[in-house]
Amino acid sequence: MTSTAVTAQAHVPFHDLRDLHALDGVQEELDAAVLRVTRSGRYLLGTELACFEEEFARYCENAHCVGLGSGLDALELTLRALGVGEGDEVVVPGHTFIATWLAVSATGARPVPVEPEPDSFLIDPERLEAAITPRTKAVMPVHTYGHPVDLDAIDAVTAPRGIPVVEDAAQSHGARYRGRRIGSRYAAAFSFYPGKNLGALGDGGAVVTADRELAERIRLLRNYGSREKYRHEARGTNSRLDEIQAAALRVKLPRLDAWNARRDAVAARYSEGLAGLPGVTVPAVRSWAEPVWHQYVLRTPHRDRLRRALTGAGVESLVHYPVAVHRSDAYAGTVAGALPHSERLAAEVLSLPMGPQLTAKDVETVITAVRDATENSHD
Ligand SMILES: *Cc1c(COP(=O)(O)O)cnc(C)c1O
Repeated sequence: MTSTAVTAQAHVPFHDLRDLHALDGVQEELDAAVLRVTRSGRYLLGTELACFEEEFARYCENAHCVGLGSGLDALELTLRALGVGEGDEVVVPGHTFIATWLAVSATGARPVPVEPEPDSFLIDPERLEAAITPRTKAVMPVHTYGHPVDLDAIDAVTAPRGIPVVEDAAQSHGARYRGRRIGSRYAAAFSFYPGKNLGALGDGGAVVTADRELAERIRLLRNYGSREKYRHEARGTNSRLDEIQAAALRVKLPRLDAWNARRDAVAARYSEGLAGLPGVTVPAVRSWAEPVWHQYVLRTPHRDRLRRALTGAGVESLVHYPVAVHRSDAYAGTVAGALPHSERLAAEVLSLPMGPQLTAKDVETVITAVRDATENSHD
């Protein structure tokens, strides 16, 4: 067999967790952490969770952390702990993952969407006031793709009305807004879905908050409304970050800043390598933001064609998200009026491979593939 004439087809996976875990001894540490738990005889609400909650609260520069079963639960239980329910409204972004809306619906309240800024992926604070009614019980901004929203601009609308801001931080572990960590304010919900910047080996989530009473209420709700076995103070649920997930997260948390720095370097190289391509907009970074690049997202009206060309060149890409939430079957007919900016983003966004495991060669392969696809299309 001879392979001399064969040019190896490039292959850049979108985000392969095996490659991530192969970095600096992570897999071995994960294996040891899991084994430590399997042999401990304690699988729920034990020391791994208690230690992780303390470590993650400190990481977020905040006082309290409550570990939960998922990011969706973190959002829903925070709203329930705030007393949000039937007949209430919660403001959400039009452009987001459906979980943001589902958390509101799960409480019985109605999600009220606000359009993104015309030139970014983030909820537009200038449109917030018009969405607020006497029924508004919370505002839930999303730090979409890891880029912080302008929280002070949101507070300027919510604070005078006494409306709490619950941040959906599922994509923004470690990001900073005006120098402070996302998660350092009133309340933020995180997801530890395996593909997030800080991911577990299964589902997981947490709420980080400055409010002790809010933390206590969420703690109660996650464990059947019970502090003491078989004494039920509230109609809670079962949503606990288990010991194996907490132990795995404790392996990854000390590496998160270095991994986010690597994502930032990849993003900087992408933006440099893709600058000035006709019809392609690279993501902007606001002056107040230190984003963590959960996704690196281009905009182009030729999205589907570009995506096919990348696939042909061995470069995986994804679309976050191809259908605006209000256009999904789950929410069809629930939103009065159009959300043209949200719909346009659904048609134009394209996520390139991203993660600390990408090699310099991978990044150049992606840049070349996007440039070739864009420069060779003449229509
Ligand atoms: C991932 C995600 C969630 C939900 O997290 P899960 O852990 O999957 O339940 C919520 N909001 C946003 C913006 C997300 O990206």
